[in-house]
Amino acid sequence: MTRILIAEDEERISAFVAKGLEAAGYQTVIIDDGADALDRALSGDVDLLLLDVGLPSMDGFEVLRCLRGQGSAIPVIMLTARTSTRDTVDGLDAGANDYMAKPFKFDELLARVRSRLRESVPVGTINVSHGDVTLDVLARRATVDGREIDLSAREFALSEQFVRHAGQVLSREQLLSRVWGMDFDPGSNIVDVYVRYLRAKFGPSRIVTVRGAGHRWE
Ligand code: CA
Repeated sequence: MTRILIAEDEERISAFVAKGLEAAGYQTVIIDDGADALDRALSGDVDLLLLDVGLPSMDGFEVLRCLRGQGSAIPVIMLTARTSTRDTVDGLDAGANDYMAKPFKFDELLARVRSRLRESVPVGTINVSHGDVTLDVLARRATVDGREIDLSAREFALSEQFVRHAGQVLSREQLLSRVWGMDFDPGSNIVDVYVRYLRAKFGPSRIVTVRGAGHRWE
């Protein structure tokens, strides 16, 4: 059975979310402290983490950084009252898969939980390549002509989208959704920033910007 960890110190919210998730057929665990939530998430017996930003002992960003730092790939949806773009981008950069600003509608949260759980099922393909670029998806290694390129998790995910769809224009919305798990544009230039990172690592002419449409891997 799928078990969801709710790291939230506001009892009203955790009880409401737990009740809804249980009605939808999930098991839930509620923890109201950051460090305890981190321990539980690292124990490997939960399948998804709903992570509040404002938590006692360690805030949500810190929990997330430690979790990813220790190699956990558990899907994480951040819950926060803050709505600034900066916080959204910080959370996603720290390794969150998705982001919900409070107050939220439960149905919307449930849709995102389902979608994140679906994505975390490993896909069959292990190697993705185009021309001299090869991405080993399971090992998260990227090589160009056999030479290894050092990529962050997010850079790797973005490269994977480009290489899988080489020659096609991918819009900023498609990339935000597939790489950052965001079904809306937070108004940041995060996609452009990461495209620049990839150009610096793979070579400047690898990704072409098509004005008003998106980016294309050549
Ligand atoms: Ca809180």
